[in-house]
Amino acid sequence: MFSPSTCRNCNKPIAGRSDKRFCDASCRNSYNNQNKADDERQIQQINSQIRKNRRILKTLCPQGKATVRKEVLDQMGYDYLHFSSLFKTSGLLYYFVYDFGFAPTFENKIEKAIIVQRQDYMSKLGFDLWKH
Ligand SMILES: [Zn+2]
Repeated sequence: MFSPSTCRNCNKPIAGRSDKRFCDASCRNSYNNQNKADDERQIQQINSQIRKNRRILKTLCPQGKATVRKEVLDQMGYDYLHFSSLFKTSGLLYYFVYDFGFAPTFENKIEKAIIVQRQDYMSKLGFDLWKH
């Protein structure tokens, strides 16, 4: 009997029930393992970028607080898309990577970043994401 479906793993036509997605258990396992590996790789890539961001902030902020020009972060390869948490205070929005964070700001029209080390009180979000 013709079956319109093909195996998701090896693309061979599947005999029997048309709702089957794999030839057999071994095809299902290798497909799932491959997918898991792809997921892991994507997570690992972002994790390593976040680690790099943290390293940059920590390097630039040895005393708990520091202000640097944005271009310093750029030169060190900071990736602004990736952070692990947010904190907002007095008009500044801090992008944290674990225990270090920065808030974008301007000083005399120059783009700068205020870098801080996390304090206990920063563990609360501090604002409503839906009212931001
Ligand atoms: Zn197969």
